[in-house]
Amino acid sequence: MAGIDIEGLATVYPNGVRAVDGLDLHVADGEFFALLGPSGCGKTTLLRTIAGLENASEGTVRIDSADVTRTEPGKRGVAMVFQDYALFPHMTVSENITYPLKVRRVAASTRTETAERTAAELSLDGLLERRPGQLSGGQQQRVALARAIASQGKVLLLDEPLSNLDARLRLEARTFLKKLQRDLGITTVFVTHDQAEALALADRIAVMQSGKLRQLGSPREVFARPSNTFVANFIGSTPMNLVDGVVEANGSVSLVGGSLPAATGSVPEGAEVTVGVRPEYLTLAPAGSGLQDGESIRGEVVVAENLGTSSLVSVDCDGTLIGVTVPEEDEPEPGAPVVLTAPERRVLLYDKES
Ligand code: ADP
Ligand code: MG
Repeated sequence: MAGIDIEGLATVYPNGVRAVDGLDLHVADGEFFALLGPSGCGKTTLLRTIAGLENASEGTVRIDSADVTRTEPGKRGVAMVFQDYALFPHMTVSENITYPLKVRRVAASTRTETAERTAAELSLDGLLERRPGQLSGGQQQRVALARAIASQGKVLLLDEPLSNLDARLRLEARTFLKKLQRDLGITTVFVTHDQAEALALADRIAVMQSGKLRQLGSPREVFARPSNTFVANFIGSTPMNLVDGVVEANGSVSLVGGSLPAATGSVPEGAEVTVGVRPEYLTLAPAGSGLQDGESIRGEVVVAENLGTSSLVSVDCDGTLIGVTVPEEDEPEPGAPVVLTAPERRVLLYDKES
């Protein structure tokens, strides 16, 4: 069973940059695991350190229970797909796919058979004799994947494999990749800076910032319950509302325009917090629709943006804009007085410094 276990891992470049800065992580056998974070947070470095292309400065990497921290890349049982695919331009598709097997001196007949089988799995039939320059971006991406899969690693490492594709192709390739990973059942670590991609594909997501893990959880967990404001800001196609608040005695929190119910738990009355509510979890009603104090905030509609089947409405609450998504047919008029509310479990409280 090929899981990946990372303990206390740090990768420091010669210039002193701690690109991976003390990281613990377990990727389960067969899991589709996403590493998500902004550009420069250390995703590629972490992937390259797992592959052995960068040296770990501290800590250990285990693959399939074996400590590979000092093992050379070719002997770790990993296959990596690089962001720019790194295909050999002078070789045919078939030669590219089977290159890792050739290095391992696998017989030519076996290589041909592997190339044909893998090409069929990745919808590359008929392209085996072409060179990379004669392929579309999506086809090149699949050749890079085919080469990784044909090498029969225990673990597949993918560095932003969809980022060089245009928007439409990227969606197609995403679906294709998800199905392929499920069919093969191979442990996969997928690096992306695109939160929508991570939410759509992964079994679990690790959100990174400055070489450290900020949250690890299922797509549902990191979306619905970000554990700090960094993750809250980073995840979601519409940004989470994050505003100052003060905890009240009766299980609510006061903020611009009124107060909302909140699971205050052990947070004491009077504590100053950052209140987080996703636009998708707020509901909007005309002013005077009978909501009590303590369960709603008041404001005035400023503008509505069309998101397709829903609208993102900006509401001015005492000078602060709060976003709320509503079904397209419920879009209110600019200037309309409204009240907003959310169920208690959707109102999140953060330390002001998180
Ligand atoms: P990501 O893939 O998340 O964009 P990287 O792992 O590429 O992040 O980079 C993490 C940090 O390490 C960045 O600050 C980057 O500038 C630095 N870095 C990356 N590669 C090198 C290198 N070869 N030498 C020195 N610093 C590097
Ligand atoms: Mg990168």
